[in-house]
Amino acid sequence: MPLIESRTVPQAETSHKIPPVERHRLFERLGKPVRFTYEAHVATPKNVMALMSADNDPKAARDGDYSFQMPQAIPSYLMAIAAGDLVFRPVSERAGVWAEPAMADKAAKEFEDTEKMIVTAEALYGPYRWGRYDILVLPPSFPFGGMENPRLTFATPTVIVGDKSLVSIIAHELAHSWSGNLVTNSSWKDMWLNEGFTSYVENRITEVMYNPLAGGYEFVELHNASADTPLALEGVAFTDGIAMGLDLPVRMSADIKGTPGCIVLGPKGHIELKEGVIRAQRHAHMHTSDAEYYGVKSGDFMRLKVHGSCPTVFEGVICRVSKDVKLEVHLDTDEGNASDLANAARVELEKM
Ligand SMILES: [Zn+2]
Ligand SMILES: [Zn+2]
Repeated sequence: MPLIESRTVPQAETSHKIPPVERHRLFERLGKPVRFTYEAHVATPKNVMALMSADNDPKAARDGDYSFQMPQAIPSYLMAIAAGDLVFRPVSERAGVWAEPAMADKAAKEFEDTEKMIVTAEALYGPYRWGRYDILVLPPSFPFGGMENPRLTFATPTVIVGDKSLVSIIAHELAHSWSGNLVTNSSWKDMWLNEGFTSYVENRITEVMYNPLAGGYEFVELHNASADTPLALEGVAFTDGIAMGLDLPVRMSADIKGTPGCIVLGPKGHIELKEGVIRAQRHAHMHTSDAEYYGVKSGDFMRLKVHGSCPTVFEGVICRVSKDVKLEVHLDTDEGNASDLANAARVELEKM
């Protein structure tokens, strides 16, 4: 059984890490992930703390004699063991941090939002099913950013920077508690499914917790211009198009022939559009009484003046008149940001 061996601090006598490929060799000869529960007894020198991807007890006596149980079936690559001069700091009832003494307080501070993160993920994807969620801070030689070992995420110490700017790695590893650890790809070549869905879940968590824009395209409008026209995805700014790798044409939402398609993935499922991803032409929805007031009809152009720190005039705002809308001008986020619209002192809409 080949192990990578490394020393951490002089006081720590052992610290073993088994890379995923070796766990794969240890626990199975089959060509696909199998799931198993396990019980383990680990003996170490007396002053060494041993932990596993199992039911770690924060109050366990450090005596060199440790027993573990993993009652939920896990795929073999999630079997993990660590040993070293490790102390525990609680973050909440069910979450905490294991680290070497010099790092423990800093790590607990950096990861103090962990409980909130679990609650956020639960609100999005259902209960956390693994009991405790602890984070083990590894020595700097740990070759990955993090590893989603169930109940005990292994994390690199390089994310502990004092300002929580890198805790998205914890969001990622926690997200694996749902995608990857509960539901696992059925063949090794599809490991990308684990990582793809987990990156998505990670973004959803960080979006709710830290940055409403981190998750990307929360404000898109998916609609059809009328009952007999296809769905279009509008409200996608030019900058979003660059991020998505799409060359987006400026169109009205009924006019989508030859435009790029996409798959929209959200909390309630997904929908595939063969075409219809557009930069919506800037437009003004108007009730017939508004159109009367301005003296315009559908297809006419208006001018929107934004007064404020970035005074801007938007020409060519096309009118869309109907009986069941109120007056509303739709710009994209690039246009809104360029004109500092959120802080505008005043806006004026006039006939061109
Ligand atoms: Zn991952
Ligand atoms: Zn609109």
